[in-house]
Amino acid sequence: MEFGFYELPALKYQYNALVPNISEEQLKIHHTKHHQAYVDNTNNALKKWDTAKKEGTDLDLKAFLKDFSFNLGGHALHTLFWDNLASPGKGGEGPRGALADAINRDFGTLDRFKKMFSQAASSTEGSGWAAPTFSKQTGRLGLMQLEKHNANLVPEAPILLVLDVWEHAYYIDYKNLRGKFVEAFWGIVNWDAVSARFERAK
Ligand code: MN
Repeated sequence: MEFGFYELPALKYQYNALVPNISEEQLKIHHTKHHQAYVDNTNNALKKWDTAKKEGTDLDLKAFLKDFSFNLGGHALHTLFWDNLASPGKGGEGPRGALADAINRDFGTLDRFKKMFSQAASSTEGSGWAAPTFSKQTGRLGLMQLEKHNANLVPEAPILLVLDVWEHAYYIDYKNLRGKFVEAFWGIVNWDAVSARFERAK
């Protein structure tokens, strides 16, 4: 890795590992084209920063930081997203240990948690993400509905699980039917990885 720049992380599974919930073509284009573009755009912004520093010129900081937040947000969220997916039937039965207890305490039941998460994902305006979060201050789980990669961000609470509901995440497989993609998502959640992320966050 080149020092000071971001790079596209390799997936921990093959491109056909999530079939039939996500097709090989859909996953490959999502990872190698869309995610790669966020990495490239973030690095291009950093190069622009370096050039401005070297030449002593001013950046349009309002535009620069908006662009940077968008692209780095895209890179960070996709990296989390790949890590919380697993082949159908390979991600564990459901949340375990402390995460299972916290879901029951803060959402009532696992089914109610899944229903509310699905509603947040399905109703995201335009392009965005849904994510359950954990507040270290209150000890509560919550939900976040991000627009684009960075609007509605709750900076205080780490993300435990995240679902990409940009059209580029599902259009090849599900066309305009985002709800079907959200439903299919539950079959490929890597609960073991999500439970481990919760252990690290708390
Ligand atoms: Mn995406």
